[in-house]
Amino acid sequence: MPSTPNQDRDEVLRLLRTVAADRPALFQRADALRRARLGDAVPLRGIVEFSNICANNCLYCGIRAANTRVRRYRLSPDEILAIARRMADWQQMTIVLQSGEAPSADGDRTLGELIRRIKKETPLAVTLSVGNRPRDVYARWRDCGMDRYLLRFETSDARLFAQLHPDGTLVERLDCLRALRALGVQTGSGFMLGVPGETLAVLADNILLCRELDLDMIGIGPFIPHPDTPLAAAPNAYAADPELFFVALATLRLFNSDAHIPATTAFDAVVSGGRDLALQRGANVFMPNSTPGEYRKDYLLYPNKPCVDEDAGQCAQCVVLRLSALGRTVGQGPGHSIKRPAGPRPERWPGVTAVSEDILGFDLFPEVER
Ligand code: SF4
Repeated sequence: MPSTPNQDRDEVLRLLRTVAADRPALFQRADALRRARLGDAVPLRGIVEFSNICANNCLYCGIRAANTRVRRYRLSPDEILAIARRMADWQQMTIVLQSGEAPSADGDRTLGELIRRIKKETPLAVTLSVGNRPRDVYARWRDCGMDRYLLRFETSDARLFAQLHPDGTLVERLDCLRALRALGVQTGSGFMLGVPGETLAVLADNILLCRELDLDMIGIGPFIPHPDTPLAAAPNAYAADPELFFVALATLRLFNSDAHIPATTAFDAVVSGGRDLALQRGANVFMPNSTPGEYRKDYLLYPNKPCVDEDAGQCAQCVVLRLSALGRTVGQGPGHSIKRPAGPRPERWPGVTAVSEDILGFDLFPEVER
């Protein structure tokens, strides 16, 4: 008999409350599931932070529009293409183009043309992570060759979301994710761990919402207060127990067996060797920074970000050594989602459970027959 939403939430909470002595067993369970479903090869996705210009003012973010201490930049399409042409040599078969959210007709068109050029001139898969857009813009980018899109929902608590994001709502964010899914784009989302105001119950709902969304990729990372933001003095909700970040990661894996889960950079910022630990506790993807060295200090979403003094070539070498020290190999090929074949998806999402109404207070998928 399938479990009910309340039973699932109870189970997630039980795992999140795992006491220190039992955590190694939880980590081993998550690692074994990761190995069984996704193997030991680690797909590399090279991130190019191509612009730190953003129109929004998310309270936690170091490059928010109101932060006048940031030197703003935007790489030209030719600069980005020059990086993309080197990435296959670095065994990075996906380029992740990430920027602040700064929609403009010209900028969005240029991005489409860039995707087309990358797909024509390199063997790379293309992931975009540039924020909320209308469905027709996502559709145009998909037609240009975009394979994947990352858009974190950050928190499943609509009230908390509104407090943190003065420029948008959780409903809008989830609408974007739904549009991407319906367009057949491999869709990634995720959340922050320990944002001020978060409770363990919210964290449990974050994990359940990831499963509800049936995501292809899930990125999570600890909230780290940035000194130039309104949350500068707000500690992480789990500051007293940083290992909980990994407990959450392991639980996320147990509830999302087939999703690609990256060992995000923020784990390194809070715990030495954090990304290595993440790869041993449920994560299966690594995202080396392939942004040119001279721009890295200008893309600090949070402080203590690792690798800001390196360049892309150094990071490319470093990751191979890190993986080999863990007994893991570099993934070959594009590292697409294992959940479903590429191509358009039905508007109706099979396998959706009835959790969302419970978590969000509204029906996330009104068109789905249950
Ligand atoms: S989190 Fe993203 S959208 Fe929000 S301020 Fe930072 S760059 Fe802009």
